[in-house]
Amino acid sequence: HSLLSAVPPSAAGGPFTLEAEFQRDLDPRKVNLIIGAYRDDWARPWQLRAVAEAKKQLKVESSFHEYLPLQGSSEFIKSAKRLIFGDNIVNEMSESIASIQTVSGTGANSLIAKFLDKHTRCNNIWLPDPTWVNHKDIWEVNAPRILMRCYPYYSDSIHALDFDQMLHILTNEAQQGDAILLHACAHNPTGQDPTEEQWNKIARLCQAKKLFVIFDSAYQGFASGDLDRDAWAVRHFTSFSDLEIAVCQSFSKNLGLYGERVGALHVVMTRSPHTTAIHVQDRLVDLHRAFVSMAPLFGCRVANHIFQNQELQDMWHADLTTMSGRISSMRNALYSELLRLRTPGDWAHAKNQVGMFSYTGLTKEEVEVLRTKYHIYMLPSGRASVCGLTNANVKYVAQAIHNVVT
Ligand code: PMP
Repeated sequence: HSLLSAVPPSAAGGPFTLEAEFQRDLDPRKVNLIIGAYRDDWARPWQLRAVAEAKKQLKVESSFHEYLPLQGSSEFIKSAKRLIFGDNIVNEMSESIASIQTVSGTGANSLIAKFLDKHTRCNNIWLPDPTWVNHKDIWEVNAPRILMRCYPYYSDSIHALDFDQMLHILTNEAQQGDAILLHACAHNPTGQDPTEEQWNKIARLCQAKKLFVIFDSAYQGFASGDLDRDAWAVRHFTSFSDLEIAVCQSFSKNLGLYGERVGALHVVMTRSPHTTAIHVQDRLVDLHRAFVSMAPLFGCRVANHIFQNQELQDMWHADLTTMSGRISSMRNALYSELLRLRTPGDWAHAKNQVGMFSYTGLTKEEVEVLRTKYHIYMLPSGRASVCGLTNANVKYVAQAIHNVVT
């Protein structure tokens, strides 16, 4: 009669299991290239200067601990919208965008999956292959009615976008009313984004096929260091008045507020034909109420304070340059080392990919040897978080990679 004894064990694995293993490893040479969280040149978590300053200034009014409204903080939503869509779009079409504050990017992804499953006739969700490991679980758990499909995204053999295959499969197999998930920038795990010309072709395909577009935006500011430049694809798609678009927006990485769970979900209606955002807005709020009631308060207060204060915004932009700059210099350092060692293969992708990750192209077996023999940890897919590289360990990592592929 026990309900609980019949619960099957979880299929262990994934980044957080590996992370626990790393913590138990006592070897002093160990290197953590697992989780996508920024680290400084001493491999320590780094608090953004803008966040430290905002917290200092906020202390004076820290007695507010009431519930947020169900849709979240209206100031936060207003700023979040401006950050991703830019002033022009927000000024012109604010009425056409439904927005809700969410439990960061994961909460936004989950909410749009649940929403499409429950309130629309969406049949298929097209995910890039490969994609962020959690996407599959999110869609499985939240949208049991919607079938998961994969479109080719990356070619292992050329270490680049498999653009022709991607368009070919979507053109032939995606159906009107399906949804497609795109990474707004700094694709996880490949670090490979479409060019502007390729983005435009994808947008036209989505328009022709009447696909519902979901942008997952977890790294705005991490690809180029510039918030506007990294929002280019989202803004370009939004300029198509007949596209329906959702944006899952996370501030975990670009504000370094991982644990505070700061994010938003925006849904852009078509303007021709004109569709009201009110019904979608209300349904999102209803669903969110059943899920978590409302998003947490503290992180959004820190974010709001930065968004509303020019001096802190400038500090934030400089913080983004610091983080993306260090990542980029570690990419170059790894690449130069591999070149110096004459490591077999072409490693230009290590330097050219963008965002937090390097999709190294190392096989599962090579990754395993790196872990067991050299105490270097990365995902079995060969994804390495470049944030874990430092001036002190990059030579050791390059030598280890050299050894396992030679
Ligand atoms: N989407 C992608 C592509 C991600 O890489 C991540 C974080 N790893 C997220 C969403 C969500 O992160 P969070 O829930 O912390 O915002």
